[in-house]
Amino acid sequence: MTLKRTVAFSRDAVNVFFHVLTRCNLHCRHCYINPDQHGTATLPVETIETWLDAFADRAPVTNVIFLGGEPTLHPDLARAVAYAKNAGFGSITIDTNGYLFNDILGRITPDQVDFISFSLDGATAAVNDALRGPGSFDRCLAGIGRAVARGFSASLIYTVSRANLDGLRRMPELLARLGIGRFFIQVIGIRGRSAADGSFQGGDRGPQLSRAEWLSTIPAVAQEVADLGITVTYPKVFLEAGETFACAGKVAENYFIFPNGRVYRCPLCEDHPFHSLVFEADRLVPVAGMTEERFFDLDIAEGCVMNKLIQPGNIDYGPDGTPAYRIACCLLKEEIDGARGM
Ligand code: SF4
Ligand code: SF4
Repeated sequence: MTLKRTVAFSRDAVNVFFHVLTRCNLHCRHCYINPDQHGTATLPVETIETWLDAFADRAPVTNVIFLGGEPTLHPDLARAVAYAKNAGFGSITIDTNGYLFNDILGRITPDQVDFISFSLDGATAAVNDALRGPGSFDRCLAGIGRAVARGFSASLIYTVSRANLDGLRRMPELLARLGIGRFFIQVIGIRGRSAADGSFQGGDRGPQLSRAEWLSTIPAVAQEVADLGITVTYPKVFLEAGETFACAGKVAENYFIFPNGRVYRCPLCEDHPFHSLVFEADRLVPVAGMTEERFFDLDIAEGCVMNKLIQPGNIDYGPDGTPAYRIACCLLKEEIDGARGM
């Protein structure tokens, strides 16, 4: 049995989620990319390098995650990875849907990236492809196989909703078979396409799991995966009585960069022009006026302000109108170290 721990927010580490383009070959039902807010540009590699320089002074403690859209559609992703590696960033990850365009595996080496992180939303083609599109399950598994065979460390991201909760229970065996080193469970967010697609709302609560559904399933599956020796990370979502609420926008260093230059500190704000920073003339500068930072300062009984605003279906109230529990910051994670289970 391995022990789970809550990963506390820290200003000692920086996470840079760098969307190098928004274009994608897939059309997933729950995709959070919103071109109206995030742009449609493919950033020139010189711009990617210049924007990475904005974080260079803390490179050793900075984790860079290249994502999109599908980042391997970027013709110069390999050069961006090499640049980040040479700049000494603490870790480098590529998030991909598994199609691995532009011969990316042949143009980077396993010592340049800490993980290639594959998105899969079902343990079977039937479950996954209903969400991510026909053929995407087979292509993703093939991509994982090629990456592992070439010596890359592979992780896997599963975005859980009511549409694929049963599929999650079947993931442990698949993860072990594929040679996955880390497993990330994400909670579906009501933003981007899942906010716009009424047919995906799934009744009164929407596609998000209730607290009872979450607590009866996610920790148990995570433990089962960790017992196979695979480290698991999943969001806390629901705070327990007595636990302290903290907003990562105020107490942590996360930057979500989009090709139109917007930089958010909170992913739940990404459907709105509330970004707190922007790249202007290749310099990262604060935005004045109405930004996400105004929300971070609000102290409400429900916990996370943005959850209450954009996905209130997450919250239940007692007969007297007080919240039955508080919602944690979406960036607060539980982690179970699989290595201790080996
Ligand atoms: S979720 Fe990822 S793979 Fe799916 S459409 Fe969006 S960017 Fe593409
Ligand atoms: S999810 Fe909520 S608590 Fe976390 S950064 Fe955003 S507003 Fe703050």
